[in-house]
Amino acid sequence: MRAAVFTGHGEPLEIREIPDPEVEETGVVVETEACGICRSDWHAWQGDPLWESRGFEEGHVFGHEPAGVVVEVGDEVEHVREGDRVAVPFNLADGTCPPCRNGHSNLCDNRVPLGLAPESKGAFGERFYVPWADFNIVPLPDDVSPIEMAGLGCRFMTSFHALVHQAEITAGDWVAVHGCGGVGLSAVHIADALGTNVIAVDLFDEKLEFATNLGAVETVNAGEVADVPGEVRAISDGGADISVDALGIAETCRNSVSSLRKRGQHLQIGLTSSQEGGEVSLPTDTMVAKELRFIGTIGMPRPRYNEIFQMIEHGKLDPAAVVSETVSLAQTAEKLEAMTDFETSGIPVITEF
Ligand SMILES: [Zn+2]
Ligand SMILES: [Zn+2]
Repeated sequence: MRAAVFTGHGEPLEIREIPDPEVEETGVVVETEACGICRSDWHAWQGDPLWESRGFEEGHVFGHEPAGVVVEVGDEVEHVREGDRVAVPFNLADGTCPPCRNGHSNLCDNRVPLGLAPESKGAFGERFYVPWADFNIVPLPDDVSPIEMAGLGCRFMTSFHALVHQAEITAGDWVAVHGCGGVGLSAVHIADALGTNVIAVDLFDEKLEFATNLGAVETVNAGEVADVPGEVRAISDGGADISVDALGIAETCRNSVSSLRKRGQHLQIGLTSSQEGGEVSLPTDTMVAKELRFIGTIGMPRPRYNEIFQMIEHGKLDPAAVVSETVSLAQTAEKLEAMTDFETSGIPVITEF
């Protein structure tokens, strides 16, 4: 099969013929119809802190926001059939460990991050393998298109889990979103659907316009104001109730925390780059004095997908609205490179393999 393969950290991905994935007893092979290109792929490609020790070798395949059609089914799989149209959470879980049994499969003790660990080849190729299929496979409602499916990928469901399950959120709250890449724009759209007032923060007017179209009521261009948190606090008359760092650099993380009103909640979605090395210093005394909460959040537990599907079905959420462009597999390398300078807008999705 054709795939865009890893050739070294920071080196362009190359299109190559590689062997098809082999099906194991509890898994399925899926033919890729669409796959989002995400900043997590970029982090792994760059060799950033969380990924540098994982030891990706030449020939690895990234890609963790796929949707497609099941083409091979392992002997022990009971509930997935050939021909099923499916999506998968990027944190593949065994479904049996203590966190999985407690409803937190995004934190599975044995999780396999699709395409983001050497032992799991991802979906920047014509086919990909999904282990523990009965637990992980998410069957798609008939009226959800491949692009919507890919738009749902990690960023949309990550933002949904963060805002809906991790934060205490109420209609009328002020929600600040720092960084309007794919995960940030998803957060803007979802927070708007939840009835909150969203302030979008970014350096690029184009991304702020995208955010406004998705429901942000106010925008702040961080390159044009001296005090970003001060601006957010002024707009929201005292500070955001919930503030999201959707990027993960030191500046957006601290800006987000400092944007909060008393008893506000900070949601950390973005992972740091090699510059932060996994750590960011925070205004600790202010966090104590204002009783701020700092909440880390990753992915979404598999059993909760239906909440998103029901909101899509009733027209409250539209994952395709966050998709900015469709591209071919051959363009994957250039799209990843464009992320280095934040030149991509919204979510690019590969639809031609
Ligand atoms: Zn588990
Ligand atoms: Zn992702």
